Amino acid sequence: MSRLVLSALAVTLVCAEAAHAAGQKPPNIVILYADDIGYGDLGCYGHPTIRTPQIDRMARDGMRFTQFYSASPVCSPSRAALLTGRLPIRTGINRVLNPRSLGGIQADEITIGDALKRKGYATLCIGKWHLGHLAPYRPTRHGFDHYYGLLYSNDMQPLSLYRDDEEVENPVHQATLTERYTEEALRFIKAHDRADSSPFFLYLAYTMPHVPLAASPRFAGRSRRGLYGDVVETIDWSVGQILALLRDRQLAGNTFVFFSSDNGPWLSRGLHGGSAGLLRQGKGSTWEGGVREPGIAWWPGKIAPAGVAIDLAATMDLFPTCLKLAGAEVPADRAIDGKDLLPLLLGRGKGQREVIFYYIDRDLTAIRRGPWKAHFITQIEFGDRVRDLHDPPLLFNLEQDPSEKYNLTAEHPEIVADLIKEAERHRSSVKPGKPQT
Ligand code: MG
Repeated sequence: MSRLVLSALAVTLVCAEAAHAAGQKPPNIVILYADDIGYGDLGCYGHPTIRTPQIDRMARDGMRFTQFYSASPVCSPSRAALLTGRLPIRTGINRVLNPRSLGGIQADEITIGDALKRKGYATLCIGKWHLGHLAPYRPTRHGFDHYYGLLYSNDMQPLSLYRDDEEVENPVHQATLTERYTEEALRFIKAHDRADSSPFFLYLAYTMPHVPLAASPRFAGRSRRGLYGDVVETIDWSVGQILALLRDRQLAGNTFVFFSSDNGPWLSRGLHGGSAGLLRQGKGSTWEGGVREPGIAWWPGKIAPAGVAIDLAATMDLFPTCLKLAGAEVPADRAIDGKDLLPLLLGRGKGQREVIFYYIDRDLTAIRRGPWKAHFITQIEFGDRVRDLHDPPLLFNLEQDPSEKYNLTAEHPEIVADLIKEAERHRSSVKPGKPQT
């Protein structure tokens, strides 16, 4: 072969490769978000009687995080942080919104839905929204082509099921909600399963196992854990249905799926609340049980199977991660608190998160750097206004003492001093958003 032919061939190959890269569809993205599932509520996180074979398989096929955090121990701020990659203090969604709330997510916030929609993604939000129920704050104004679900918690009244902006059911038949959400999700995936379909972003935020619990006849009475177990096992079935469809339609290799929960178990609900496993306390508290959550990433062929990550990570990290996957620019005109998870997920590096800031409402209650966590304020439970202030702060080594039993303040005054400084730096650098109530 002549040199000319060879170089022509090389040019052709390079062009073909570039064209392929340019024309290649970015991955589909699915975020599955449970409400009030605790760190100890899944089989793969050690629950002895709740059976979650589908989520356990997801973890075996992907990567399971053991130090994965929500940004808040309650619903609305957790969801705002997940979708914007920003601490709740910045977006002003510091508290649980309710049916009388006049506020919600602001028009200038950029959600994962907004960013992906601009890159040509089809976007669907199913389930609990809880970022404002009035028209300007609804999912279809914040990056989602369509919506099907409840605009706030299932224990709030009046409760209606919405399709886009239309109220389609009142009262809501809660026992079958998870199954109906799942049918919607499967229909959406099937509508975008062709090679020439737009990539899709599905945000499925389950209404359960937030109280009041309800299970359909198909799942009721199945779990040895009782009704709470039935409800979690329904969600497990739902996750299984979605992953099975992705596999059946040959979409698994081009779909990134993440499963987590918004906050820890609602302990004061007794048997209707979940378990934080070995972690202390639950929902409403910034002891670990309130904010550390199951976190499972799945993307066959890209994320190596059976990974267990002990690196720090947080729901806010999904924002830059999803944007990078979609080829979208991470906004540079605002503070983004999320860190890119891709180096860790794809086995190319370590986790990039070093610090966790813990907030209740607008108060920075604790800070974690590496293994060390200092508590400035502790509060038990949601709705309980009794707080303990700590000066000096309580200090725990979470790698050696995940249950936060042994206060080491007296032994490590230099670490306490460093964490106080870091907290002060953070407080003085954060620009709070207008509180939404
Ligand atoms: Mg919740």
